[in-house]
Amino acid sequence: DEKPLYAYLEETASRYPEKKALHFMGKEMSYAELSDQAKKFANYLQSLGVEKDDKVAIMLPNCPQAVISYYGILMAGAIVVQTNPLYTERELEYQVNDSEAKVIICLDILVPRVSKVQKKSNLEHKIVTAIKDYLPFPKNLIYPYIQKREYNMVVKVEQSKDTHVWENIMKTADSNYVKRDINPKEDLALLQYTGGTTGFPKGVMLTHYNLVANLQMSEAWLYKSKPGEETVLAVLPFFHVYGMTTVMNFGIKQASKIILMPKFNPEDVLKVIDKQKPTLFPGAPTIYIGLLNHPDLKKYDLSSIKACLSGSAPLPIEVQEQFEKISGGRLVEGYGLTETSPVTHANPVWEKRINGSIGLPWPDTDAKVVRAGTDEEADIGEVGEIAVKGPQVMKGYWNNPEETENVLRDGWFYTGDMGYMDEEGYFYIVDRKKDMIIAGGYNIYPREVEEVLFEHPAIQEVAVVGVPDPYRGETVKAFVVVKEGKQVTEDELNSFCRENLAAYKVPRSYEYREELPKTVVGKILRRQLIEEEVKKQE
Ligand code: ATP
Repeated sequence: DEKPLYAYLEETASRYPEKKALHFMGKEMSYAELSDQAKKFANYLQSLGVEKDDKVAIMLPNCPQAVISYYGILMAGAIVVQTNPLYTERELEYQVNDSEAKVIICLDILVPRVSKVQKKSNLEHKIVTAIKDYLPFPKNLIYPYIQKREYNMVVKVEQSKDTHVWENIMKTADSNYVKRDINPKEDLALLQYTGGTTGFPKGVMLTHYNLVANLQMSEAWLYKSKPGEETVLAVLPFFHVYGMTTVMNFGIKQASKIILMPKFNPEDVLKVIDKQKPTLFPGAPTIYIGLLNHPDLKKYDLSSIKACLSGSAPLPIEVQEQFEKISGGRLVEGYGLTETSPVTHANPVWEKRINGSIGLPWPDTDAKVVRAGTDEEADIGEVGEIAVKGPQVMKGYWNNPEETENVLRDGWFYTGDMGYMDEEGYFYIVDRKKDMIIAGGYNIYPREVEEVLFEHPAIQEVAVVGVPDPYRGETVKAFVVVKEGKQVTEDELNSFCRENLAAYKVPRSYEYREELPKTVVGKILRRQLIEEEVKKQE
């Protein structure tokens, strides 16, 4: 289907104008209102001189303005650049300069940070929206998007040549924007930066067609769900590709009601599920783990949930089983990357799924396993690099043709993930190529060690990394978070690992932590743990 992405908001708004689109902190907005506000926003951007293919950055947590501005930018014919409201000045400066963004939309509280970047970049305008519109905006929901010292700052934003106030736009702009000629297969909708788990974030060029294709695949996968009938819980942030596609864009295409949560906090999420009765709840393993570990879990009714997709990191089997028991819904694992809009694989929701597998390639998606360092296909069960081909695969990396050539070859995208396929065509991830530990000449996949430790009854979270070692090159180290009220010694962990793993895979050291560093979708940042360790050793 070759339409620009925003056409689906217009379609939903004309078929279901009165239907609620967004629910945020007790306020609701219909599809007609959402579409109208996006059009006004497009019109206003055009009045600022935004042309086709100009870049416009969004720096917002999940809130109505994030959705309105995203669709408004696309309607104006421009390209969305998603930035993370957690970015420090340095990170934001890098991304604004790399993407060549001309305009940015941000919260009033972030203005001091953004203004500094504005001076060092080609940012011409900032559009500012106030948190106070949504007062009482609980402090715990806006942390950690703002730093403590910023929270108490009174930021007064006034309209000027380069600063624009959201409410003025909604009051003054009209909804007649100029329709630009969009070629969905060629024109970019989005510059989406990768999560930065293994290195500096790379800008991924995604076309309208890439994003729409992934929505159509989602619909085929979730075939029992009908337009207009679902309520989706938006805990995943929209500035990350995973929440953007599976919650925001899919929700809009399906005319679902989207419950916006600006930040993940187990207690708030449990309360919202209990009251707002979402039916779909895409998430990540750490999100479900957080809910299951809440002491008052049993007080809340989670029975509205029909289907959950877990992606971004491996889903432990116990977590899947427990969450299904508590909610009565289906929780299935899928897989994807920023470069693929993002989903390429998932387990079927209602048919056969396999614990520990990422499932089958999605409709229209080809996938294969390639022997390391060659273009030969691996045998069934043999571990190699996973490659995928399909309409959701990116056009390339922004400003980075060498890296594009490295990963896009003969129409196949090489994922950098190691895995295998079984005789029924289900895929399994072993680990990321980059995270493989080489200790004394042995290859060790940290995930295998993590899975063993995770089975220990005292362990809540675990990350295994390779740390520099003068003799073995690298050596295996485990960082663990112990469950509340439980205790476990290093010796106990050691003998537990020895029982379940070959000797060379057993961690040589353990470190206890209160929590582990994570990305916005709850992926554990092994890289940061390694960096901390290297600093300690120096
Ligand atoms: P960067 O690419 O910058 O290092 P990132 O890994 O956070 O950052 P994303 O595009 O957000 O970038 O994540 C894609 C990666 O997430 C995949 O390559 C894969 O390693 C991992 N992943 C996604 N789903 C799963 C899953 N179900 N099981 C295991 N790993 C997964």
